[in-house]
Amino acid sequence: MDETPSPPTDPASQAAAKPRRKPRRSRSMPATSAPSATPMSPQADYTTIREAFRRFEAAQPHPEGELNHVNAFTLLVAVALSAQATDAGVNKATKLLFQIADSPDKMLALGEDRLIEHIRTIGLYRNKARNVMKLSRILAEDYGGEVPSSRAALQSLPGVGRKTANVVLNMWWKHPAQAVDTHIFRVANRTGIAPGRDVDAVERAIEDQIPAEYQQHAHHWMILHGRYVCKARKPDCGLCPIRDLCAYKEKTA
Ligand code: SF4
Repeated sequence: MDETPSPPTDPASQAAAKPRRKPRRSRSMPATSAPSATPMSPQADYTTIREAFRRFEAAQPHPEGELNHVNAFTLLVAVALSAQATDAGVNKATKLLFQIADSPDKMLALGEDRLIEHIRTIGLYRNKARNVMKLSRILAEDYGGEVPSSRAALQSLPGVGRKTANVVLNMWWKHPAQAVDTHIFRVANRTGIAPGRDVDAVERAIEDQIPAEYQQHAHHWMILHGRYVCKARKPDCGLCPIRDLCAYKEKTA
């Protein structure tokens, strides 16, 4: 998934800790989620949100993610590899990999060094390879080679944070989980569908504000809208199906 905007640690915990010195921004801290980078529109009303998703559904009744996978395990690996990488880049790297290693046992048999050969075009590949090997071992030894359906179990795996867990829950287990990436963060804030200062706030707003019947696919509709229409640098407002519903003040022609 592109350019993960998730904060590295729980903001509530950070606030509670009240460090005396200003914490240094880590390299992994997402600049894209900074409030200054994405103007926050006022919360849209329920009727407006319902109409926006009615239009998304009419245009694309069955939206799908763009990360290639053949089963739950390869989906989990693909999502874990996609942090701070593009889906296209991950798909290129996993095309051959998933033909060879589509289960925890096969991944363990492949080994870390050969896994690295497949994914070295992806950012942070060494760290990701280490985590994939560790999670493969845990799945093989503790879960009979299956991917668990609980968020807690998923998040206990090495390299699997809340966003990765939510993507797997949504795409594989059809749980209406909301994984907020940089595209969703931007669309939610520009439009006013689910404004929030950080990814946790946007996730909560999506759960609270989007009608129940649209929760399952909200994730993909918003990602695809952000990736292809409501683009970061210059949104295509002239082509936007929800232009009249959007509260963004700097619409393009
Ligand atoms: S009108 Fe423009 S800013 Fe608003 S959702 Fe559409 S593309 Fe994005």
